Amino acid sequence: MASSPRPQAPTGAAPALDYDAIIIGAGISGLYQLYRLRELGMRVRVFEAGTGVGGTWYWNRYPGARFDSESYSYSYSFSQELLDEWDWSEHFAPQPETLRYLNHVADKFDLRRDIQFRSRVAAAHYQEATRGWDVTLEDGSRHSARFLITAIGPLSAPTMPRVEGVGTFQGEAFHTARWPHEKVSFEGKRVAVIGTGATGVQTIQEVAKTVGHLTIFQRTPNWCAPLHNGKIDAATMAEIRAGYPEMFKRCQETFACFLHTPDPRGTFEVSDEEREAFFEKLYSERGFGIWQGKFRDILTDRRANALISDFVARKIRQRVKNQEVAEKLIPTNHGFGTRRVPLETKYYEVYNQPNVQLVDIKETPIERITLTGIKTSDAEYEFDMIIYATGFDAITGAFDRIDIRGVDGLRLKDKWQGGPQTYLGVLVEGFPNMAMLMGPHTALGNIPRSIEYNVEWVTGLLRHTRDHGLTYVEATEAGVASWTDHVKALGVGLLSNEVDSWMTGINRNVEGKQTRIIARYSGSAPAYRARCDEVAANGYQELALA
Ligand SMILES: Cc1cc2nc3c(=O)[nH]c(=O)nc-3n(C[C@H](O)[C@H](O)[C@H](O)COP(=O)(O)OP(=O)(O)OC[C@H]3O[C@@H](n4cnc5c(N)ncnc54)[C@H](O)[C@@H]3O)c2cc1C
Repeated sequence: MASSPRPQAPTGAAPALDYDAIIIGAGISGLYQLYRLRELGMRVRVFEAGTGVGGTWYWNRYPGARFDSESYSYSYSFSQELLDEWDWSEHFAPQPETLRYLNHVADKFDLRRDIQFRSRVAAAHYQEATRGWDVTLEDGSRHSARFLITAIGPLSAPTMPRVEGVGTFQGEAFHTARWPHEKVSFEGKRVAVIGTGATGVQTIQEVAKTVGHLTIFQRTPNWCAPLHNGKIDAATMAEIRAGYPEMFKRCQETFACFLHTPDPRGTFEVSDEEREAFFEKLYSERGFGIWQGKFRDILTDRRANALISDFVARKIRQRVKNQEVAEKLIPTNHGFGTRRVPLETKYYEVYNQPNVQLVDIKETPIERITLTGIKTSDAEYEFDMIIYATGFDAITGAFDRIDIRGVDGLRLKDKWQGGPQTYLGVLVEGFPNMAMLMGPHTALGNIPRSIEYNVEWVTGLLRHTRDHGLTYVEATEAGVASWTDHVKALGVGLLSNEVDSWMTGINRNVEGKQTRIIARYSGSAPAYRARCDEVAANGYQELALA
């Protein structure tokens, strides 16, 4: 077992700790981590800012919110009973159904009794004296535990646009990730949507069905592709259920844990006709196939990427009647698939409605939000409602909102200035006994598949500490340097790393997030798991344990 120069056994009688582990967040990560740590017999407390479980699916109640992952491939896979009893009603379930599912999970496994809702963690400080974490909630109450596990979500810290006057508008105003629990009507109303990312696209196509007049403020168009959702009848659900073992096995094998995997062929290894037919097939298929199941070189070879981008651009021109509008909807600053591809249902057709207007805010920037609407550089618009579909301070945003301090009071935010540095995306040197679920530099993809793996790995590590009477776990400087370099190396040559997006750490609405960083692990999920498995199989010798 490697020894660290740092850990000293606490001297004197250290005060007792309230819990063995504190988990922050009751989304998919936090719920599953609670379940697994209870199995270890640990005393666990979960602090959750919301009033209920579900995380993403608790907060994002905006109209049209739904999966881009196939519902069944997104489910937890750890409980056969749960798989047997839960029926999905659509291939891409809407948010209320997913929230029901996660509430069902919480009830079934009696998780709520260890979760404290309405409890936002403001600070978490490591204490040498106890080898534990001191956690302070926003209400000032303090709680301590040996281990701190962050399950705070890669997309959970919403951002508003950085324009003057936000907050002064006197009509209705909602951020999509803070949508009210009551029904919101758009009927006869003049509605503005700011933002055309994945959330904006889902919102726009739903609001357009009943709105009086809709104005869409677009800064960056995205390459969207059809979702091809559909209902699941009883017979289909029975088939899906019978295929679960095979399906989950497949998700373990694919690059990003989706059902889809890249075609092994290169774009230029096939004839023009074959290529066109292949693109047509992908465009007509369900889900992320066109993003995850395309030719293997589309995200690394500029010429290959130009061909699929041209194919999707043609589709947009065919679907949007006004060609001037169509051109505005076609991205020019990034190629297809180099940012997250929003999946849509009749999104482009919305722009054929007479009551829908597109405002390109690159041409005519928003100058301010007014009492009655929005003022751009060339016009003033009046609205009854403004919807901010302006997304999240992704990946590190939820960390930045907590005052996390490690050894010698070192702030995590300072440690990560210039980009996150982690070991396997789970541990951070200088922050002993802290583990991150879905933190930076871990494999994401079809996220619950990665969550289950992350949780099981962390559980294995904590089991190891229990079985060996250890009270101290920390990544080493060398381990962090090596993993961080590896993550950076994996990004070399990827077209997506040459583009501003939340995946490269850019958010124009957040101060200090204007420089590209490597925020996420871009290697394959199987390779990620193999490396983590190796560390565990070697008895965690690469860590400082005491
Ligand atoms: C609209 C939308 C659609 C998505 N669709 C898909 C999809 O189709 N497929 C896919 O794989 N992924 C999708 N995602 C990503 C999604 O975030 C993950 O799939 C998954 O829900 C992450 O779960 P989590 O538990 O790690 O984080 P979250 O679900 O984000 O949960 C984190 C929880 O931590 C709480 N929290 C944060 N900070 C604090 C604090 N300081 N104190 C107390 N509590 C705190 C939050 O309130 C939240 O409840 C989507 C995301 C969004 C926003």
